[in-house]
Formats: sequence, structure tokens, C-alpha cells
Amino acid sequence: MGERPHAFKAGHGNLSTWRGTTVTMPPSGHRGPRHPVNDEQALRDELLAQARRLGASGLSQGTSGNLSARHGDGFLVTPSGMPYDELRAEDLVRVDMQGRYEHRLRPSSEWRFHRDIYAARPDAAAVVHVHPPHATALAMCRMDIPAAHYMIAVGGGDSIRCAGYHTYGTQALSDAVLEALDGRLACLMANHGMLAVGSDLAQAMWRAVEVETLARHYALALQVGRPVLLTDGEVADVLATFANYGLMSPRS
Ligand SMILES: [Zn+2]
Repeated sequence: MGERPHAFKAGHGNLSTWRGTTVTMPPSGHRGPRHPVNDEQALRDELLAQARRLGASGLSQGTSGNLSARHGDGFLVTPSGMPYDELRAEDLVRVDMQGRYEHRLRPSSEWRFHRDIYAARPDAAAVVHVHPPHATALAMCRMDIPAAHYMIAVGGGDSIRCAGYHTYGTQALSDAVLEALDGRLACLMANHGMLAVGSDLAQAMWRAVEVETLARHYALALQVGRPVLLTDGEVADVLATFANYGLMSPRS
């Protein structure tokens, strides 16, 4: 349970934009550097608000999916098997980096990859994991999303990889997710769903919605014809623009 995750391998090819920018402009509209939420209650309230948005966003049905936010030397995560509309702020489970918790509810059964992402990726302050229809359909085919649209840049590189299949909740799945996230901010998960990280909860949610939209466009394009891929240079130009807007920056 306390097994240490493998180290994050830095960079992935020359399109990686994982490079220590410090200012985040979240998609929620307010500009300027973000200050991490230090107050646990405020973070619980924000996590609850974002969790309740999951159903309306089309990202999640029923109790599928889970989300978390880094807090102190651990993280807060949604509990296992509870409908989001019944969730209260106090139901969110605080888990430490050894996977320990003290709560009447169990953390999401998928807490392990949340923990391992926070351990391996100091830039990640929030994780959204969901099973939305289009991203999951591609994941069922074990397909990566290539650079067929400039919004591929939301994932931080020239593709959104599909992590290999392993049983949910296992260390093997967590290892596969970290590998697919190398130099990236989102990945698909074979025969399962998708995952997005962010420098805060709002950014992680925004990214998850954009990845699902991208997956929908790509799936449609595959039915219409053969999608034309952008060149490395074209993708690099967009990645540079995104970096300027802070859309893929680590938490300041
Ligand atoms: Zn899942």
C-alpha cells in the first residue's frame, strides 16, 4: 500500500512543453497568478462544487469517475460509490501519500493513481478521472488521439496517449497511467476512460471537457474520412501559444 511509485521521466520529445512556467491563467476567467487554496474547508467546498458539475458537464454518469485536489502532504478525493448529488464537503476523504486515511467513508477505489500522480508530478494540483462517451469509445479501441486538431495541445503534446489496460484500482494501472502521462497533461485509459490533470481544479475540469470534445471530433472525423494530421511545427506553434496563456503551466 505504501509502495513508492516510479519516478516521473522528464520530457518527451521536442514537443514537450513541460517547462516550469510560473503564471497560471485558469479557464474560469480570473487572471493573474493563482494562489493555492491553503484552507482545507475552502478546498473541500471547491472540490464538491466541481464534483457536482461532473454530471451536468456530460463527463460522468452515476457514480463513475472521481476527482481529487492536492492538499498539504496528501490529497482530498471523492469517496467510493457515492452519487455526486448526495455528496457533502465532509464526505471527501483525505488520503496521505502512503495511501492512509481516517474517515468513515472509503476513498475512491482509484485513489492509487491520484496518489502516484501527486507523488511523481509536482506540477499537478488536481486530477479529474471520468468515463465520458467519446474518449471512452476511443479508449475501448485502445487508440491514441493524434494531432488532427490544434486543440491536441490541451494534452500538453502532439498526442493524447492511451494507457494500457489493467484492472481498476491496481498499481499496474497506476503505473500505466503515469507512463501515458509522461510529458502530458491528459491520457486515455484502455477499456476504461480518461484522465486529466491541472494546476488547479478548474483547469483540470476544463481540460477533461476539452479532451472529451477532441475525442468526439476525432471519432466523427474517422467516420467522415481520413483525418489529416498537423505537422510537428504546426503543433509546436500551438503549444507555445498555450504555454503563453498558462494553460499548461504548473501551479505557481
Ligand atoms: Zn474509472
